[in-house]
Amino acid sequence: MHKKLMTLYDRLYAAYGPQNWWPADTPFEVIIGAILVQATAWGNVVKAINNLKAANLLTPKRLGKVPQAQLETLIRPSGYYRVKAKKVQAFLEHLRKSHNNRLDSLFENDLPNLRKELLSIYGVGEETADSILLYAAKKPIFVVDAYTHRLLTRLGWMAGKYHYARLQSIFMSSLPHDLHFFNEYHALIVRHGSKTCRKTPRCQTCVLLKQCPYPVHHV
Ligand code: SF4
Repeated sequence: MHKKLMTLYDRLYAAYGPQNWWPADTPFEVIIGAILVQATAWGNVVKAINNLKAANLLTPKRLGKVPQAQLETLIRPSGYYRVKAKKVQAFLEHLRKSHNNRLDSLFENDLPNLRKELLSIYGVGEETADSILLYAAKKPIFVVDAYTHRLLTRLGWMAGKYHYARLQSIFMSSLPHDLHFFNEYHALIVRHGSKTCRKTPRCQTCVLLKQCPYPVHHV
């Protein structure tokens, strides 16, 4: 699997180039984005983040003082805004109570313990926790998602339903645990999954066409 995954990375990188993720100015913005992006497209998150920026609220202290109703209005473009406002507030409450609003204190923890801590917060699932670990805390963990599952399934490298831990272990057990590499690889898969290997795939323009068995049977 190591060789296959390295070749896949090389092809995607050659096709799309560096992705420079995560698209955010600060680690705190990464965290808010990682919560808001749940079950929505990134473009909607950008609108919500821009609202928070325009109101000068993108710090833990300031955002923590915003009442629920105001927060809901500001993040409304990201969808599911009521439940997402609760999730953002749960994160902020944890940061305030356990780390005196300091991200550097939160990030001091080692990877396994920080992951556990993040997963204990309401609204933080595995993909959100790992996005925070990789892109905000700069810890080497591989983030997987529905794009990753679709790609590996179509390539014929795995079968069965989406299972986060199983999918993640394919990458974590086969690849060097390198922060920059994991950052770039996940971003490239998202780029590929959103532009080419979409629900209805654009196989004719795909750099993986020669290796991929999917078009022969489905397109
Ligand atoms: S050839 Fe088609 S199915 Fe295979 S990876 Fe490319 S876009 Fe996806």
